[in-house]
Amino acid sequence: MAVETRSIEKQDIKENMNVLERTQQVIKTALQKMRSNENTYELLKEPLRLLTVRIPVKMDDGSVKVFTGYRAQHNDAVGPTKGGIRFHPDVTEEEVKALSMWMSIKCGITGLPYGGGKGGIQCDPREMSFSELERLSRGYVRAISQIVGPTKDIPAPDVFTNSQIMAWMMDEYSRLREFDSPGFITGKPMVLGGSQGRESSTALGVTIVTKEAAKLKNIPLAGAKVIIQGFGNAGSFLAKFLHDAGAKVIGISDAFGALYDPQGLDINYLLENRDSFGSVTHLFTKRLTNEELLVKDCDILIPAAIENQITEKNAGDIKAKIVVEAANGPTTLKATQILTDKGVLIVPDVLASAGGVVVSYFEWVQNNQGYYWSAEEVDEKLEIILTDAFLSVYQTSVQKEVDMRLAAYIVGLKRVVEAVEWRGWV
Ligand code: NAD
Repeated sequence: MAVETRSIEKQDIKENMNVLERTQQVIKTALQKMRSNENTYELLKEPLRLLTVRIPVKMDDGSVKVFTGYRAQHNDAVGPTKGGIRFHPDVTEEEVKALSMWMSIKCGITGLPYGGGKGGIQCDPREMSFSELERLSRGYVRAISQIVGPTKDIPAPDVFTNSQIMAWMMDEYSRLREFDSPGFITGKPMVLGGSQGRESSTALGVTIVTKEAAKLKNIPLAGAKVIIQGFGNAGSFLAKFLHDAGAKVIGISDAFGALYDPQGLDINYLLENRDSFGSVTHLFTKRLTNEELLVKDCDILIPAAIENQITEKNAGDIKAKIVVEAANGPTTLKATQILTDKGVLIVPDVLASAGGVVVSYFEWVQNNQGYYWSAEEVDEKLEIILTDAFLSVYQTSVQKEVDMRLAAYIVGLKRVVEAVEWRGWV
């Protein structure tokens, strides 16, 4: 099948819109394309619920520090809401709201029986002790316990939260409810009801959609030149999966710089020597900057680090034929327009990084039925869901003559729109 890329709707796009405004803009355009009832945008432009909490935590030195946290639930018409909890000093209300909306889109694209949710706490876990983190995690669960639960809203890990934090949170919730509640949260350790494949699920999902995109662009994955920005959880598993699939990973980067070798990097060496924060480039003297790496010649560019990396300033210089957004929000709307007009196939974040929530869903299903699947079963089911999701987003982009990001929002919103209409909310 020959690939077609479509120019983005000439929307009123401003480069400096914040993450919430950007999300609202794409939702609005998608709903217009779907000719949905105009009340639907009023309903979906903000989460149904946002709880702000203040969490007092006894610190190790005897002082008390009060942390601010949020839990946003975008829409629960399709089913309970689902989404991660982020621990980061820069967490804001706008960010948590926008991320909950992205989760609705991800769940819609992959056909999961969920709406989107997201949580966050303003804190810097790198400066907190293990026991302070435990008290903060438990305090957050007590603060939000009324609005979450296995049939209401199911949290998961996100930036700077991990399986240990999920274990404390599940334990706190189970104590409050006085029964074991593994289905309250996903991303747990295996012994507490975690799923096979959860840790590498985002990267496996990115690999699956990258393979599909390469097929569309007639680029054989074996030998394809790939650049990955970021070498943390997502980027490092991804480098391994693509390397194992025969791709030539010619560039990787982290917060300190980038490594580049047109002959292909030694991925196994880098994996063995990276630290737990995803840094490895400081071990080398010959480095590029992240900015230089992004515009190097390659077939496939995968931003897997932080947001706003491809903007109107560098989009024109990008040489890749495919951009797969493993990170959340790495490309601005203006840059999306520039790349799409150049014929670059963008696999948008809401599709590319949906593998994590799909395997979180599998974890919840396994917890609910008390029967656990093999790693092969998990990977196979993930592949079916994400391949279908990729094809339906691509087909929508062709049929509706829109770019892949807008197409992803159209596909993702379809189930939410149907559900709110059937329920008589709009
Ligand atoms: P991580 O913290 O494990 O790794 C982040 C990587 O980015 C590290 O290598 C770090 O050095 C690098 N980095 C940080 N600042 C940078 C900068 N200024 N320039 C270049 N590199 C920089 O995070 P992760 O879990 O791998 O997540 C990466 C991205 O993928 C995020 O946008 C995240 O939201 C998204 N994502 C991750 C998951 C998941 O399951 N891990 C799921 C969905 C989306």
